[in-house]
Amino acid sequence: MKMNKIILSACAALVLFSQSGLAKEIKIGMAIDDLRLERWQKDRDIFVAKAKTLGADVFVQSANGNEETQMAQIENMINRGVDVLVIIPYNGEVLSNVIAEARREGIKVLAYDRMINNADIDFYISFDNEKVGELQAQSLVDRVPQGNYFLMGGSPVDNNAKLFRAGQMKVLNPLIKDGKIKVVGDQWADGWLPENALKIMENALTANNNKIDAVVASNDATAGGAVQALSAQGLAGKVAISGQDADLAAIKRIEAGTQTMTVYKPITKLANDAAEIAVQLGKGETPKSNATLNNGKKEVPSYLLTPIQVDKNNIESTVVADGFHKKSDL
Ligand code: BGC
Repeated sequence: MKMNKIILSACAALVLFSQSGLAKEIKIGMAIDDLRLERWQKDRDIFVAKAKTLGADVFVQSANGNEETQMAQIENMINRGVDVLVIIPYNGEVLSNVIAEARREGIKVLAYDRMINNADIDFYISFDNEKVGELQAQSLVDRVPQGNYFLMGGSPVDNNAKLFRAGQMKVLNPLIKDGKIKVVGDQWADGWLPENALKIMENALTANNNKIDAVVASNDATAGGAVQALSAQGLAGKVAISGQDADLAAIKRIEAGTQTMTVYKPITKLANDAAEIAVQLGKGETPKSNATLNNGKKEVPSYLLTPIQVDKNNIESTVVADGFHKKSDL
C-alpha cells in the first residue's frame, strides 16, 4: 500500500514537472530527401549531434529521392508525435497537405536548405541560393568569356535548382545578348544524380560534335557525372565546369584540373543553426531571421547564410581552414 502511494505521488510529481515544461524533451523528426549524396550525410551528422547537446531527440529518415516515400515518412513522424519536423524536401511542391496535417497536430515545421512551396511552414533556413548560381556562372565566364555553354540544371522539383539557374542567367544573359556566349543545350538532372548527368552530358557532346567550351553544372554530384562523360572524350580539363557543395571528390577534381570551381556552403553552420532553430520552435520561441521569403502561401521567416566560391587558389583558406576537409584527405 505504502509503496503504491509513493509511486503515485512520484507520478504526480513527474506530471507536474513535465507540465511546467522543464522536463519536456523536444522530439524532432528529420525527413531527408536523399542520404546517398555526400553532403546530406554531413548535414545529418552535425544536426543530430547539435540537437542532442540541446537536449532534443532526433529521428532521421531518408527517402532516397522518392516522393511517396518521403510523404509516408513524414506521416510516420506525425504519428510518432514529434514536436518539430525538419524537412529537406525531395519535391518542394507536393507537401502542402501533409504539412497541413502536421500543423493541425500542433507540430512546427522547418524547411531545411530547400524551400517547401505553398505550405504553412514556420521557418526556412538555407543559403543565398541565387548567389550560388551567380558565383558558378561568373567563375566560368571569367575563364571562358565566349564560346558554347551547356547548362546542366539540378532536380527539376527542387526549388533550389531553379534559384541556382536564376542566378546563373543573371550573369549569362548579357553575354548571350551580346552574342559572346551561345547556349547549346539545357537539361535538368532528375534527383541530382551523377548517372543522369553522365547520360545528359554524353548526349550533349554527341549533339554538338564535342564543341562545348563550358558546362554550368549546378552541383558537384552532377559535375562528377559530366566530367566522366568529358573524360571519355578526352575533354576533361579542357572544358570549364562549375559545381557546388565542396564534396571531397570535387575538391580532388579541382586539384587535378578537371573541375573549375565549386561553391562551399558552410554546412556546419547551417546544421548547427538549424538545430538551434528547431529546438526554439519546439519550445514555442521565435528564432532570429534575416530574410523573409514568399513560398506562395505566406511570407516565411528565413535565415540565409553566405556561400563561398572555391577554386584551386583558395582550397586551403576555405574548406581546409574550416575543417570541412582534412588536408591529408586531399
Ligand atoms: C542543395 C545542394 C545539393 C543538391 C543535391 C540542393 O537543394 O542546395 O547543395 O547539391 O540539393 O542534393
